[in-house]
Amino acid sequence: MKTGFIGLGRMGSAMATNLLKAGHDVTVFNRSTDKSRALLDLGAHGATDIADACRGEAVITMLADDRAVADVTLSDGGILQSLPRGAVHISMSTISVEFSKTLTRMHAEDGQRFIAAPVFGRPEMAAARKLFIMSAGDPATVAACMPLLDAMGQKTFSIGAEPSAANLVKLSGNFLLASAIEALGEAIALVGKSGIDKRAFVALLASTIFPAPAYASYGELIATNKFKPAGFVAPLGFKDIRLMLAAAEDLRVPMPLGGLLHDRFQRLLNQGGEDLDWAAIGGLAAQDAGAQQTAGSQI
Ligand code: NAP
Repeated sequence: MKTGFIGLGRMGSAMATNLLKAGHDVTVFNRSTDKSRALLDLGAHGATDIADACRGEAVITMLADDRAVADVTLSDGGILQSLPRGAVHISMSTISVEFSKTLTRMHAEDGQRFIAAPVFGRPEMAAARKLFIMSAGDPATVAACMPLLDAMGQKTFSIGAEPSAANLVKLSGNFLLASAIEALGEAIALVGKSGIDKRAFVALLASTIFPAPAYASYGELIATNKFKPAGFVAPLGFKDIRLMLAAAEDLRVPMPLGGLLHDRFQRLLNQGGEDLDWAAIGGLAAQDAGAQQTAGSQI
């Protein structure tokens, strides 16, 4: 399938690589051009501008946030102006419910198709084609996009016909992940300060009452205080909590834990955590406890 791919960051570069490996005809574009180089070596076509990446049956965006997707989609020469009628914009970034609704409407007005397909899984899972993809939109359009989605993930879930539903599910999942990180951080600070082996504690949890990949992987990062290099940077994690709270406000759903997480991220960023993995909010409890940080302390 001939497709454009816009946004070659931590996630996008791995996802575009898997599209190429699956034999798709991929034209890549990234704001900072140096990130395209590795993909060109693998056989991707290089787009000179956004319009150039919009000449196929589909264009995929994997960009940081609402602002980035708006810049790429709504600007002069952007996706909205460039994508042929009938072609599909597959939005895989984690964006707001509200903006997803706006994109759905604007693409429909221009005779283009739009689906949302945000993902669970960090860059290493993207590289291993192990992403979980939540797709939503017109069922025939989602079905037509399946060869692309299959090339990037291990499983695609159908969330319904309204694209923004997939964005709400994604934001709700990230709220749960951030809650787990905060809870792990507090428990690890407690056992750690008492002198119990933190990594052994995490291994025990992950093999007994919490046999979930998130507990094992984030628990290990927190127990070893290893928040660099970031797989998912803290400012993007903060963005997801803000978007989740906006959706909750819209639906009048009180989410007190969301408010707590919002303040944890704000504190982390205020103390210079911009480049750290979002798991670093799980390191704040140890600071609060005045606990000795182990070697490799990053915050
Ligand atoms: P990233 O490494 O920071 O990459 C962000 C991408 O967005 C880069 O290609 C960047 O271009 C581009 N971008 C940012 N602002 C832009 C603008 N105004 N105009 C054009 N391009 C712009 O982020 P990521 O970790 O790959 O995340 C991408 C998306 O996936 C986000 O929505 C994130 O929430 C979501 N996500 C991430 C993970 C994860 O573990 N990392 C997991 C699931 C979902 P430049 O290279 O020019 O800066």
